[in-house]
Amino acid sequence: MTEGVVVVGAGVVGLTTGVVLAEAGVDVRVVSDREPGATTSAAAGAMWDPYLVRPAALVERWSRTTLAVLSESSAVPGTGIRLAEGTHESRTPCELPFWAPLVDARLCASDELRPGFVMGWRYRAPVVDMPRYLAYLGRRLEAAGGRITLHHYDGLDEAVRDSGRVLVNCTGTGAGSFVPDPLVEAVRGQLVVVENPGIDEFWCDDTPGDVPLAYIYPHTDTVVLGGTAEPGVWDTDPDEDAARAIVRRCVDVEPRLAGARVREHRVGLRPTRPEIRFEVEHRGDTTVVHNYGHGGGGLTLSWGCGRETAHLVLRALGLMP
Ligand SMILES: Cc1cc2nc3c(=O)[nH]c(=O)nc-3n(C[C@H](O)[C@H](O)[C@H](O)COP(=O)(O)OP(=O)(O)OC[C@H]3O[C@@H](n4cnc5c(N)ncnc54)[C@H](O)[C@@H]3O)c2cc1C
Repeated sequence: MTEGVVVVGAGVVGLTTGVVLAEAGVDVRVVSDREPGATTSAAAGAMWDPYLVRPAALVERWSRTTLAVLSESSAVPGTGIRLAEGTHESRTPCELPFWAPLVDARLCASDELRPGFVMGWRYRAPVVDMPRYLAYLGRRLEAAGGRITLHHYDGLDEAVRDSGRVLVNCTGTGAGSFVPDPLVEAVRGQLVVVENPGIDEFWCDDTPGDVPLAYIYPHTDTVVLGGTAEPGVWDTDPDEDAARAIVRRCVDVEPRLAGARVREHRVGLRPTRPEIRFEVEHRGDTTVVHNYGHGGGGLTLSWGCGRETAHLVLRALGLMP
């Protein structure tokens, strides 16, 4: 083992970074002020799908890497990752997203579209049961010698004092007060988890413009129904009216969901920023690697950004050129 590294944050970004470092032989301590199961990451739907996140060059590179890792890991039992097929559909003609070629998306024939939709694309991608996946990352971290400790840092200075030569900052929306970084804004997201009435394919309304979110992400025994995106709202209590509207929008396109028993309401705060902060800062003798602001795409970017962050850490420790 080499000199220890502290990673602040046990969401999908911090845990993935911790796993990469621990598996490279670094002594890693992930410090978080909440259990992984209580983070925004645990509230996510979640699919491989870059949303509300910039800059484009990083997003494309990191999404590509993550797609490969998640696809390969879907064969491993207990990860919570499943490769599923499904469609994104639009009520108006639109361009295919930049990532369509990464998943070999093909245009839908008109008889494949739900009523009211005029175009769509079909592809296969990872659908991830986040609470299960975060637990898997935690086990993988520990198997490689890393550990998670619960503690709230009042700010970066306290974390620097508590760390060795390198500190990694994966605090998500917490970066707003932890750094502090006034550019961080929460975009509140709510979803409803229901029992799965036999749905196997994912579906998402991708109509451009200011339309309410609607998506259906089936896991094995549950289906996640989404969603909302409320900029600047930091409240994490589920809203009953929003939940009813989410279910209604999803039942409209998938009548099998009517009457499905609700298992859970989830709310999370997407950590948005004009651009992801992926940057090295020097505080005295400590190198701080910042890695936060992944908006609505933290899972989608996690392995790409985790590996590149780990690379910067290994360089700072003198273990890589
Ligand atoms: C409803 C919803 C649906 C989503 N769907 C998807 C999807 O389908 N696909 C996708 O890719 N993304 C999705 N996202 C976005 C995704 O959840 C986020 O991008 C991702 O969770 C960000 O991960 P993170 O690790 O940076 O932050 P978080 O998960 O918020 O973790 C931050 C960590 O930092 C810790 N922390 C913060 N401040 C401090 C402090 N001062 N001291 C100690 N610890 C601290 C927290 O305790 C936590 O452990 C969705 C989000 C929401 C809300």
